Amino acid sequence: MELKRISDRLYYLPAEERTDRPVLGYIKGDRYSLAVDAGNSSEHVEKFYSGLRELDLGLPDFTVITHWHWDHTFGMHSVSGTTVAGHLTNSKLSEVQKWEWTDEAMEKRLQSGEDIEKCDRCIRLEYPDMNKIKVVRGEIEFTGVIHIDLGGVHCEIMEFNATHSDDSVLIHVPEERVVFIGDAEGADYYQNRGEYDKAKLKEMIKAFEKLDVNIFVLGHDGPQTKLETMSYLKAQLG
Ligand SMILES: [Zn+2]
Repeated sequence: MELKRISDRLYYLPAEERTDRPVLGYIKGDRYSLAVDAGNSSEHVEKFYSGLRELDLGLPDFTVITHWHWDHTFGMHSVSGTTVAGHLTNSKLSEVQKWEWTDEAMEKRLQSGEDIEKCDRCIRLEYPDMNKIKVVRGEIEFTGVIHIDLGGVHCEIMEFNATHSDDSVLIHVPEERVVFIGDAEGADYYQNRGEYDKAKLKEMIKAFEKLDVNIFVLGHDGPQTKLETMSYLKAQLG
């Protein structure tokens, strides 16, 4: 079985290191279901959906994006239902839509720092045919916070300034005491060369402390206890 279960209402497809595929989350309501992140390609989406079919879970009505990075967004064009993105994620996706996928253009982006080594390598692995890359923006765009009632469970979807990426969005599921934070716990490899911005980190720790949850679901590691995530972040304060 591909999918892992957190509770009766929460599942996820684990991350895959080879092409940097992140965790894809799933929240099952009585009326609607919601996915966290679209993954890095149609193949990734298809793998997730075949896992859902295996468990008789409906395809998601909504797919919420945690941040603009390719591994979380390049599958957006092939998801079922409606995509949801924060306004900063959408504006970054508008930029990425203009990127060309030739060796020359990719090399230029590495030189200019627009893209980074690891992503370049993994994109080439995920896409033997780079003509298949298709970047789209979220269909529902929000600023600040929105709530989606899935029936019996709801999601509080909130923009926040994470150490990993300025456009980050978290998906808090209060009834399940779980929060999906994308890659927020990491450092920023685009703007800050993989170093933590300590002021931002302090703010983020404060915001996370306030969340009344037991479990943090991390974009490339899966579920952790709140204590584990908080101790990790505090250790990065140095
Ligand atoms: Zn990321």
